[in-house]
Amino acid sequence: MQILEKSKLDDFLQMLAKHQPVIVPTDVDGLSQYAPYQAQMTLLLDGKPTVSPKGIFLPQTEAIYRFKAQGKNLLIAEMENQQTPQVLFFVRHCDVQGIVCLDKVFMSPEYTDQQYAKKREITTIFALRCNGSKESCFCTSMGVDPEKANPAAADVEVYDLGDQFAFEALNERGEKVLSQAAELLSNQDNVILPPVPERKLQLKTEGLPEKLSTTFDAPIWNDFMFKCLGCGTCTYLCPTCHCFDINNKLRGEDGLKLRTWDSCMFDEYTLMAGGHQPRTGKKERIRNRFLHKLQYFYEKHQMFLCVGCGRCLTKCPMNIDISKFVQQVMKEESR
Ligand code: SF4
Ligand code: SF4
Repeated sequence: MQILEKSKLDDFLQMLAKHQPVIVPTDVDGLSQYAPYQAQMTLLLDGKPTVSPKGIFLPQTEAIYRFKAQGKNLLIAEMENQQTPQVLFFVRHCDVQGIVCLDKVFMSPEYTDQQYAKKREITTIFALRCNGSKESCFCTSMGVDPEKANPAAADVEVYDLGDQFAFEALNERGEKVLSQAAELLSNQDNVILPPVPERKLQLKTEGLPEKLSTTFDAPIWNDFMFKCLGCGTCTYLCPTCHCFDINNKLRGEDGLKLRTWDSCMFDEYTLMAGGHQPRTGKKERIRNRFLHKLQYFYEKHQMFLCVGCGRCLTKCPMNIDISKFVQQVMKEESR
């Protein structure tokens, strides 16, 4: 492993920033999120940011292509994808798993979203192993390994040793970025890693998708009939929610086709032309969100579309809590 004194972290990041943009967790206008690194900025190293890193790969608003409308002719020009590499720092294991979930959707064998895939290709991800657990963390119950970040997305594992960081490259891409600041790193074998504490919130999830497959008409969903405000906070903060809408922005003959985040918690989300609304109420919308995360996605990809980060339960203004729902459903008899 390669060791960096924490007192040299700023020098280390500055050195990497000479080669490519570096994105770090920090505070922007009172909101913790990932943002481009600037010298001497305060990094958020205690816990995960409120805003997950999904926007690095799936921006809140993104132009898909340009067009020009001339009479009956429509000229389409592709957007230029960002080509330069970038480094994304200190991504917790739950959020690394969130990126793996997004990969399943946007880089499936049947369909690859070119803009998403390009951002994944140019981004080296430094994971950060957690040495603690918040009350709302239940990552291990959702299949996340707290010891090792999922190597399908992580390129370097970072261990917090107190006064030092230990870096372990997981692939060539990670090695290459570490080599850019080699003079600040020292090699050390047999590094003693701090123990990973048990997650405070542990849920029984074995057999959960099968159990949920029998609950579509169960009374358990009635609890949500009036509660949700439809604000969408849960979906926007979730590292795995990925629904988007497509809009046109027109100025004269010139236009942009835009992709923007959407939310299945909005009542217009499933509203069809002609006025038909298949998900008529809050109960139906929450049911769809939870079943998508805990049953449908699992049936397709053998992994949950929830990584147990706890953001939605801590930020929902109505205290709607997916972890309590899981506990409740696992107690109920199958119907
Ligand atoms: S559903 Fe909630 S706990 Fe699960 S990944 Fe999304 S925000 Fe995190
Ligand atoms: S954050 Fe809570 S109230 Fe807002 S849409 Fe999500 S579940 Fe509903």
